Amino acid sequence: MSDAETRLRARLAEVEARLAAQRNAVAGIVDAARDANVDDEHDPEGATLAWERQQAAALAAEAGRERDELLAALDRVADGTYGVCEVCGRPIPEARLEARPAATRCVEHAR
Ligand SMILES: [Zn+2]
Repeated sequence: MSDAETRLRARLAEVEARLAAQRNAVAGIVDAARDANVDDEHDPEGATLAWERQQAAALAAEAGRERDELLAALDRVADGTYGVCEVCGRPIPEARLEARPAATRCVEHAR
């Protein structure tokens, strides 16, 4: 396994753990709202739970996107195009790949 693949798989494991935790958090909030039998629109507690649920759902969605990016990066490792800028075709610097293992562009073209 290449260093890049090792790094991507380690990051993927982290992201999947975070995704599972956020999904559990969403489910927990939904259960709490049901148990409290609160009204989202008219009850202050319901509004708080609705907000918390939205936050947890947003974090879960972000983790899901990150997982998709990492899986796409692993596909690029498999087909030999990992670490190459999709715009200019030059190698993406190692320091950038360490910081952002799923990067598809060099610093210059990331903007
Ligand atoms: Zn580039």
